[in-house]
Amino acid sequence: MSYCDKKFSRRKIIKFMALGATVPVLNSLVRQVQAAKAAKALMQYRDDPNGEEQCSNCMQFMPGKTPEANGECKVVEGSISPHGWCTAYAKKS
Ligand code: SF4
Repeated sequence: MSYCDKKFSRRKIIKFMALGATVPVLNSLVRQVQAAKAAKALMQYRDDPNGEEQCSNCMQFMPGKTPEANGECKVVEGSISPHGWCTAYAKKS
């Protein structure tokens, strides 16, 4: 094996190790971005419905323990009223 081959191998090993350390960091960042939710104010969230449109019939709503209890939203942060509404409303099919 020549010096050049050894150098190439060492470089490959270093790159492989660097990639191995980078992948978990990237995975963590992707999870954090996916878990990030918008602020209520940004989405113009309110506790009142917009006509027929309300959180309880929005596909993003995750209900609380009872139908009247606050739940969570997949895209808006914080406690969400089943009778609330925001600009990200998407009718549940
Ligand atoms: S996206 Fe908006 S309307 Fe739909 S559940 Fe979340 S807060 Fe309510």
